[in-house]
Amino acid sequence: MEEKEDPWGYISDAELLDINLMPDHCVPHPISTQEDETHLGSSPDRCKKPYTNPPRDFSCLNRSPEKEDGIISPQYRSRRWHLSVTLLCEQTWCEMKMVFGLLRPLIKQNEMKNPAVMAGISIHQKRQREIHDIVPIQTQTREDQEAIKLLNVMNMLSLLEEGQCVREFPVFGVLEGMFFMGVIDELSLSTEGELVLTELKTRKENSLPGKAQAKGHDLQVGVYKLLFDGMISGTVKRNDIIRHLKLQPKRVLGTAVLHHAGAMGIEEGTLGGLVDLVLKTLTSSKVGPIQHLKLEYVHQESGALIDSRPVQYEGEVLRGELREYLGFWRGQRDARGVDVEEAWKCKMCPFQQNCQWGKDISGAATAACGSGGGDSGQAENEVK
Ligand code: SF4
Repeated sequence: MEEKEDPWGYISDAELLDINLMPDHCVPHPISTQEDETHLGSSPDRCKKPYTNPPRDFSCLNRSPEKEDGIISPQYRSRRWHLSVTLLCEQTWCEMKMVFGLLRPLIKQNEMKNPAVMAGISIHQKRQREIHDIVPIQTQTREDQEAIKLLNVMNMLSLLEEGQCVREFPVFGVLEGMFFMGVIDELSLSTEGELVLTELKTRKENSLPGKAQAKGHDLQVGVYKLLFDGMISGTVKRNDIIRHLKLQPKRVLGTAVLHHAGAMGIEEGTLGGLVDLVLKTLTSSKVGPIQHLKLEYVHQESGALIDSRPVQYEGEVLRGELREYLGFWRGQRDARGVDVEEAWKCKMCPFQQNCQWGKDISGAATAACGSGGGDSGQAENEVK
C-alpha cells in the first residue's frame, strides 16, 4: 500500500502562514525563521562541502573550524539563539530531515510550495480574516518587528479578557534553557470560562493523521501551553527576550509602530519599555492558564471538519521529550534519522537520494520484511 501521510502535516498552519505569506510589514507580524535558515544554508563561510549525509556534513555546524577537537553546539554554529515551535515539530518527524532542510533551504522551500501546503495556508488565511483585520505597518528594524508581536499580544489579551476568540497569538519563553517562539492558532473560552487552545490542521486526505504525525501535533500544542502559561505566570523575564533575540532595548521604535501603539493607548517609545509593559500586563491579566488542548482536522478540498480531539497534557513527560530533542542542539549527540519502523517516511523525503541513514534504514526494513520480521502493524497504522 502506498503511504499517503502529508509530510508537512506536523507544522502548524499558523506557523506556515507566518513563515511564508505574511509580508514583513503586516500585523500580526511574522515570527520568521526564514531569514535564519537562508543564512545558514547560503553562507559561503559555513559549509562548503556537498551534503551527502548530515551526520558527517553537519559536523561543520558543531565543530569549531579553528579547533578540530573543539565541539561547538549546532545551536551556536547555526547562530540559532532561539527555536521556533515549528522547527521542533519538524525535528519530531525526522531530525536528519530537519538538518537537511537547514542546510538545503531551497529544496525545503520548494517542498513548501506543494499544493497541499498552499491549500492549508489559504484555509488558514481565510479563518484568520474571519475574526481579525490585517493592518499593514511599516517596520524598519528587528526591534520594530518584535514590537509588533508584543502589540499583538496586548491587543489579543484584552480581547480574551472580554471573552472573545483570538487567532495567531504569539507565544515565547524559555523552556529547558532554550528560548522558543511560536504562534497559537486559536484561543477561546469554553462555556465554563476555561481557556481552550485549538490547533487547526488541514488535511489533503479526508482522514485523520497516523501516529507519527499525531505525535508531533501533541507535542506542539503541549509546548504552546507551556509557553503561554509561562507568559501569564511571570516566568518570562525581560532579559530572556532581549538577550535571546539579541535586541537593543533602548532603540526608539519606528514612526509607524509608535503611531500604531499610540492608537492602542500605549505611550512606550522603546522596545525595552514595551517589553516591560507587556510582561506586566500578562502577569496582571484576568486570563488564566490554558485548561484544554484541542486538535481540529479539516479536509482541504471540502473544508469539512474531519474530526477534533482533545490532547492530554503531561507536563513532566513533555519536558523530558524537550530535553531529549534539545540534546541535539546543545551538541550532546548527533542528529538521528528515522527508526526502521518508520522507513516509509524516507520514500516521501526530498533528501532521500542524499541521505545515507535513509538508505541504510530502507535496506534494513526491506531485509526485515523479507525475513518476516518487519513491524507491518506500525506501517499499516500510518497508511491512509
Ligand atoms: S531519507 Fe529518511 S532518514 Fe533521511 S532525512 Fe529523509 S526521512 Fe530522514
